Amino acid sequence: MKIHEYQAKEIFRKYKIPTSNEKAAASLSEAKSAMQELSYPVVVKAQVLVGGRGKAGGVKLVKNEAELTSAVNSILGMNIKGLIVNKLLIAEALKLESEYYVGITIDREKQTPVLIASASGGVDIEQVAQQTPEKILSVSISPLLGLKSFQARNLGYQIFNDTTLVNSFVSFAASLSQIFFDLDCSLVEINPLVLTENKLVAVDAKIVFDDNALYRHPDIAQLRDLSSEEPSEVQAKKADLSYVKLDGNVGCVVNGAGLAMATMDLIKRYGGEPANFLDIGGSSSPDKMREAMRIITADKNVKAILVNIFGGITRCDDVAQGLLWALKEEHISLPIIARLVGTNQDKARTMLENSPITFAKTMTEGVKQTIAALKG
Ligand code: GDP
Ligand code: MN
Repeated sequence: MKIHEYQAKEIFRKYKIPTSNEKAAASLSEAKSAMQELSYPVVVKAQVLVGGRGKAGGVKLVKNEAELTSAVNSILGMNIKGLIVNKLLIAEALKLESEYYVGITIDREKQTPVLIASASGGVDIEQVAQQTPEKILSVSISPLLGLKSFQARNLGYQIFNDTTLVNSFVSFAASLSQIFFDLDCSLVEINPLVLTENKLVAVDAKIVFDDNALYRHPDIAQLRDLSSEEPSEVQAKKADLSYVKLDGNVGCVVNGAGLAMATMDLIKRYGGEPANFLDIGGSSSPDKMREAMRIITADKNVKAILVNIFGGITRCDDVAQGLLWALKEEHISLPIIARLVGTNQDKARTMLENSPITFAKTMTEGVKQTIAALKG
């Protein structure tokens, strides 16, 4: 789960990370009243759950009320990468002497969290990482011992030539690490970390929480901004389905995350592009299956659907029942290919005998049939 910059900065301040003086606002009048506690120049920043706001015109420096008004009017309602801006952050502008990067995330190859830092922070960090990866420094964090200050100090000395700044960097890293572990994050990031008047300040803040650990943090869970998330993913979450929307045209309904990944791999292998990841889970019910079909058919990119079920606790007849309901209620005209094996497979087959569904014996066959159906 992602949260907005203004929410992440509130968490930062609780952990003693210095930020700029700032206030969130959802309208021009709120922005103007925020100015009673702030002084010009300020930066008006779009609050959307996506990076690259600066480049998209969602971050503007303003020096007076007239400029504030036009910045607020242009940014509120702006569409940034498909998300509509309905909240702003008004932050006292700082003089940026240098922009750095610091963050903690999980390195899948090293299988540990890593502290990452760079002297080349700012809006071009992705480019820096691609073109000059040697400018990105990192160190593994032991999941048992946590981040040790010598590790942060070691990185700090490669970035700053001033001991005071190194010390300050070490405390930034320590606070980030505390947030990362306390709140079960998958990413905590400051970009840019800014040098201004000989001090380091967090000018941006990004936190991503591990959804599976949210039950341990009810206060964090309620920060979720459903209006800023992909609507189909919100609908799926309500139905207890693991769903991630993708850009392809093959809809997949699968039980189990591993089988779902393998199905997507195989679709790609035979030249298709999955439209989604969808795991209906182990203990499925006809309702879940129906909901899965609703979500998938609502995606207008989908041109064929592959249902790949390996029935254990999941019963194939439950899946068949859900499919029948969906076919009846949603008037689905897309080709549907089903590979249903395991518990109650024969019963499922009988139930679906008179439906337009094509059966496949194996997963590979199912994938090939689906790709063929795409081509008409
Ligand atoms: P992002 O583009 O979504 O990552 O948004 P950021 O919050 O990182 O802002 C993008 C860029 O705007 C930063 O890298 C800075 O160059 C600039 N910026 C943000 N806040 C300030 C500020 O207070 N003063 C100045 N001069 N520039 C700022
Ligand atoms: Mn940023």
